[in-house]
Amino acid sequence: MRVAGVVQGVGFRPRVYNLARCLGLAGFVLNDGAGVVVELEGAPETIDEFIDQLKAGPPPRARIDALEEDELEPRGEEAFVIAESLPGEAETLVSPDLATCGDCLDELLEPEDRRFGYPFINCTNCGPRFTIIRGVPYDRPKTTMASFAMCPACQAEYDDPGNRRFHAQPNACPACGPRLALWDAEGKLLEAGDPLAEVKQHLFDGRVVAVKGLGGYHLACDATSAEAVETLRSRKFREDKPFAVMARDVAVVRRYCEVDAAELALLISEKRPIVLLPKKEPCHLPEAIAPRNRYLGVMLPYTPLHHLLFDDDLEILVMTSGNRADEPIAYRDERVVEHLGGIADYYLTHDRPVARRVDDSVTRVFRGREYPLRRSRGYVPLPLEVGRAYEKSVLAVGAELKNTFCLTKGAQAFVSHHVGDLENVATVEAFEEGIAHFRELFDVEPAVVARDLHPDYLASRYAQTSGLPEVVVQHHHAHVASVLADAGYYEGRVIGVVFDGAGLGDDGAVWGGEFLIADLEGYERAAHLRYVPLPGGDRAAREPWRMALSWLYTLYGDGVLKKRLSFLDEIPRGRREMVLEAAAKGVNAPPTSSMGRLFDAVAALVGLRNFMNYEGQTALELEQLASLEEEGAYEFSHEEGTPLIIDASPVVEAAASDVAAGVTADVVAARFHNGIAAIVARVVAALRDKYALETVALGGGCFQNITLLNKLAPTLEGAGFSVLLHSRVPTNDGGLSLGQAAVALARLEKG
Ligand code: ZN
Ligand code: ZN
Ligand code: FE
Repeated sequence: MRVAGVVQGVGFRPRVYNLARCLGLAGFVLNDGAGVVVELEGAPETIDEFIDQLKAGPPPRARIDALEEDELEPRGEEAFVIAESLPGEAETLVSPDLATCGDCLDELLEPEDRRFGYPFINCTNCGPRFTIIRGVPYDRPKTTMASFAMCPACQAEYDDPGNRRFHAQPNACPACGPRLALWDAEGKLLEAGDPLAEVKQHLFDGRVVAVKGLGGYHLACDATSAEAVETLRSRKFREDKPFAVMARDVAVVRRYCEVDAAELALLISEKRPIVLLPKKEPCHLPEAIAPRNRYLGVMLPYTPLHHLLFDDDLEILVMTSGNRADEPIAYRDERVVEHLGGIADYYLTHDRPVARRVDDSVTRVFRGREYPLRRSRGYVPLPLEVGRAYEKSVLAVGAELKNTFCLTKGAQAFVSHHVGDLENVATVEAFEEGIAHFRELFDVEPAVVARDLHPDYLASRYAQTSGLPEVVVQHHHAHVASVLADAGYYEGRVIGVVFDGAGLGDDGAVWGGEFLIADLEGYERAAHLRYVPLPGGDRAAREPWRMALSWLYTLYGDGVLKKRLSFLDEIPRGRREMVLEAAAKGVNAPPTSSMGRLFDAVAALVGLRNFMNYEGQTALELEQLASLEEEGAYEFSHEEGTPLIIDASPVVEAAASDVAAGVTADVVAARFHNGIAAIVARVVAALRDKYALETVALGGGCFQNITLLNKLAPTLEGAGFSVLLHSRVPTNDGGLSLGQAAVALARLEKG
């Protein structure tokens, strides 16, 4: 029997061994490069029984993708053994990091156990994996546990097939394994008798502590203390971007948030992502944790160290990535003080190195299904499917923001962890190292490299200098392809609706409000938002007032300066005139059809904000602001044709006059959302008639907006469409690499 899937490093051989022994079967089990090989000798019905049992109850963290059987002549074997691993081509899946299992938790809290209170307890069902792996095969010498020699007690567990730590590569105990250390703000080692007890006291006192996790450092503070949260915000130069919290247990989560069954399943899964949950009204946590947001990002402890941080006095902690502003998360001990100096009062660290920087995953549930926002720790590097086994492999390098890359092999796509915004040297280095690591880990030799149409993205530059033939994929086509690959829709065309901030279009304009008739191979632009100037280019994405002024200029021309527009009060007259001039002359003001920028314009108009502190802020705040009761809608107009042009100027005009008439911002925001849902439904219906297509794929960063989705999806389904949405990779640019890879495979196939 040949078993493929996630079958190594997850206790598969012991399970097979125990099952075979119980059933009195002879033979052997071993690991090879392709997975697990089992040979069984015994009565045919007992062997059937074995297979049924194995399929029904594989180890909790294992995943059987394929099980092939072959009949052999009996050899008269009498015993069942675990045989020596065979080398071979690396095809076995590397496991993601796994949250502490129940058995280990029991031991952790059992005073008589030799690992009582030991923050690095793990077993074949749990513990670090991807973040400690330096190379393949996955064996201790190829992990960051290499320098820890097991003590006799640990070695005995490791060697015993009946033990739940049999071949658990990170196996350790207080006698032989990693140890905690406590540093002061300067990184000097503090002679702490019990670092954990001291850290808990510091957290209780409102201090900020950098805590070393699986994929890097977190910054932690007491989430019930408004003062501690404010301190962390001001030191991190993070004005209002939401922080995630870690709660001791589900009961604590329920005190602050609503949790349904699907959300609970994600919270307690071995992946332990941050789950966006609706805050309870009122939510007795400081507003500063997630200002102006109906949702809170919550996770449960996923390492033994996390579990040990909590008690009755410390039930919920802010746990945010250990970085300063836009830098990548700090993960190297020797550099951490340099990165987090001035932010952390203390460092709770240890001597097991982090091989790879990996951020927490962020996810949510939409209508009972997972709808991820960032796919990283706990999910990566498990592969996604690409439909069927392709002969050639593809490397897709993703785009600029929220970058991931993707390597395909056969029928599998390995989408990387969240690399970050490719805007600085450190992130580009992480990107390049990540690609090299994945190539080694999965033994892939890509035949082509797929990249975004934008030639100046740093990822695109990497592709251009890779020496591989390039497949160039338009940004919004990649978004549609990503939805298709995610949803397993490999054949045929769909109506793709892609709303995001920006992507280079094939006419040189900045696209972002697109309706594409597309399949994996190609697309036709069927409709889009009318072009308006993007004054200041990238700057407009950080200063929403620019887009508001640009839209008003298309409405009123120079007359806009005479209008009474209170949102412009804080903008000096000279700068307003500069923007108008740029819009009028088209200097440094490329045409854009961006839906993200339309959100910016409306957000500025209602007085929400003229300047952004983080990418996507206005869209998020406008969504959170929108009244859920309001049913009025602003009406877009449209002009038939190919492509069909959707004009938002009536919407901007209506919003501006509502604001002038004193209509509150929550109502304006709701009418704007309702208007978008209505125009999408109208345009999609027109395209159905024209192209005879019944399936709509929704992609792009704007569809992180649940308020919009809640209005749009039922409307489309009510009109008889089937709606495809992401459920495994994010709808933002984090999902782009999968789409690029799917496009490249489809085009390779067509030659
Ligand atoms: Zn365990
Ligand atoms: Zn030991
Ligand atoms: Fe995008």
